[in-house]
Amino acid sequence: MEKTNYNKEEHFAPETIAALKEHYAAILQLLGEDPSREGLLKTPERVAKAMSFLTQGYEVEPLEIIRSATFREEYRQMVLVKDIELYSLCEHHMIPFYGRAHVAYIPNGYITGLSKIARVVECYARRLQVQERLTVQIRDCIQEALNPMGVAVVIEASHMCMQMRGVEKQGSATTTSAFTGVFLSSHRTREEFMTLISHKYR
Ligand SMILES: [Zn+2]
Repeated sequence: MEKTNYNKEEHFAPETIAALKEHYAAILQLLGEDPSREGLLKTPERVAKAMSFLTQGYEVEPLEIIRSATFREEYRQMVLVKDIELYSLCEHHMIPFYGRAHVAYIPNGYITGLSKIARVVECYARRLQVQERLTVQIRDCIQEALNPMGVAVVIEASHMCMQMRGVEKQGSATTTSAFTGVFLSSHRTREEFMTLISHKYR
């Protein structure tokens, strides 16, 4: 048996993998390749599994990730999880964009496990996305699950669909942000967050 990095492959519906595999073989041919040459023999199946892995976020309910680990706590200062590694696929080209997410909230009686924040980011990232919607979905999920005083999300990402096609200069990044509550109403709170995540303090 060939070993792959896709540990969850056994969870993928075999019918779906089989159908995807057939389509990817056809795609290879349409792209001018010979799907029967040795190096490509297993490629349609590998791509089918890879794409299933990279879009498995549809099967997870992000609200549940947080609700499964919500704790009563009187801490009312900013909780910041920064530099969360992020890999997603742009929905326009199905080509990766990747970067970092910084997520903060100010609890209002409830906190969640820090790893859950990263899991919410991952769950939304493993869908076809635009960076703007990804940013807002993460914010709204935390706002709805914890009802905190405020949520702040900043994502910095590079888009391969731009870089590889030469539309964008190599190395440039796109930044998106979304805020609720005190991060909107208090300039000082928002500034504190932006200072904490800014590059010069890394
Ligand atoms: Zn794109």
